[in-house]
Order: sequence, then structure tokens, then C-alpha cells
Amino acid sequence: MSSVTLLGVAYDAGSSYRRGCAAAPALIRDQLVSSVGNSWSETLVNIADSAVLSDDGDIAPATHEMHRQVASSVTRILATESRPLVLGGDHSITYPIVSAVSRLYAPLTILHIDAHPDLYEEFEGNRYSHACPFARIMEEGLASRLTQVGIRTMTDHQQRQAHRFQAVVIDMLAWSSGDRPIISPDERVYVSIDVDAIDPAFAPGVSHPEPGGLSVREVLSIIQGLRCAVVGADVVECNPEVDPSGITTRVAAKLVKELVAQMHAQSLSRLTRVGKAIRNEAAAH
Ligand code: MN
Ligand code: MN
Repeated sequence: MSSVTLLGVAYDAGSSYRRGCAAAPALIRDQLVSSVGNSWSETLVNIADSAVLSDDGDIAPATHEMHRQVASSVTRILATESRPLVLGGDHSITYPIVSAVSRLYAPLTILHIDAHPDLYEEFEGNRYSHACPFARIMEEGLASRLTQVGIRTMTDHQQRQAHRFQAVVIDMLAWSSGDRPIISPDERVYVSIDVDAIDPAFAPGVSHPEPGGLSVREVLSIIQGLRCAVVGADVVECNPEVDPSGITTRVAAKLVKELVAQMHAQSLSRLTRVGKAIRNEAAAH
């Protein structure tokens, strides 16, 4: 049993503007094992150690099957007492992932790092667009607390949604003034990283580049500064079609490596034990 299990979701039908991020999981994996670097995190965890990380491969669900397939794949990982780190794919996959994770680890805190709040009630007629996952998650009570970092595309509608869900929004103005996310060691946290949170100077290969963002180092500092149990995570929205140099995939792999290390380093003893119900459900799939 490894602390963390990778799962790729080759899915971009939730994208409202540009497709392409379905190709990201395989390329991020290539970067994780590439001899361009080594397998050690900055915090000295070796992700090549089978006790640290294992890999469940990729799924490529059809649109109408996406929710069910993602939720059941994540449930299977949780049933092995490992924790899922999911490679996207577009951000719509976070809703089914969190649906599965919250069944085991509620109450859940979500740390969402993104240029966009993704809180639309619906976007262009689609309630399951990549612009909406956190509205679905919060209205269903799948998380008790939502903290968003890196936001720089707020709208009046999404501002009202943020108030409605009592989200803590650390937008780039607040970040620049020194605000930082506050998470206690007792919280069980799901980390969702949309690569477009990072400034396009560092990570240009995303579908919705938005200037004025975080540096790679700032996002690494957030990850490495977490002293809580991270019970699941995703890294989404890397789009290889608009990333000719491959640097954005490389950035995504770096974030994955440091997330794996953080998840491994935080003891499982803080976490709720895996329930029989979840095991039985996974066995039935
Ligand atoms: Mn985004
Ligand atoms: Mn997003």
C-alpha cells in the first residue's frame, strides 16, 4: 500500500473554450520519471519508492459516464487506504473526485488554487462545466470550508456565490498584500490546483491564460507549508496543445512531486479509518 496513488483522467469535454487537456496525464507522468530530473522532492521524499507512490493509470471516460467512472476509480483508491492524486483533464473532474473523497473524510476543507473561482451556477447552459465544480461541491455540502487562492477573474455573480458558500477568497490583490491561506493541522484537506493559477510567464500551456498570477515558487511554498493531512488532490487544466516547449507539463509534474511528498509525510494516523461501507462499495464495482 502506497501513501498516494496517481490516477489520470483524460477528459476535456467540460472545457468551455479550448480542448486539449485530456492529453496532459500521460505527458505529466513522462515528466515525473524523466531523467531530466530525479525522483526526490525538495523535502527529500523519494517518489520512486513504492511505499510512497503507486499508479492506477488513466481513464478516458465518455461525457455521460465521467462522473460515475471518476468517482468509482477514486473510491477504489481510497479502499486500499491510499490517497488519490488525480491528473486532469479539465477542472470539471474535481466534482466527482470530491464526491468520493468526502464520503470517507468529511468534514473536508478544500484548498483551491486557480486564476478562476469556478463558482458559476451554470456556464453556457452547462452546470457541469469546468467553470462550475465548486458551486456543485458547496451546494451539496461535500466540503465544509472552501479557501481559494490566486483568483483574478472574479465576477459579480461568482462573488455572490462565494458569499453564499462562505468561501475565503484570497485573490491576487489580497495575496499581494500578504494574505495567506490559514489551515489548521487538524483539518482534512483536499488540494485542487488549476495550473492557470500560475502566471502564464511560468506556465503558458493552459486553456485560459490569465496574466498577473502566482509564481511556481509561491505555489510550492503553499504546498510545502501545509501541516495538515491532505486526503486527496488534483492538478488540472494543463493543456499540451498550447505548450510547445513542454514547460507547463514540467511545472505540473513539479507540483505533483511536491504534493506527493507532502501527502506522504503527513501521518495517516490523523485520518479517519477506511470504513467498511467504502470497501464494500469498491468491491462491488
Ligand atoms: Mn482556471
Ligand atoms: Mn479551474
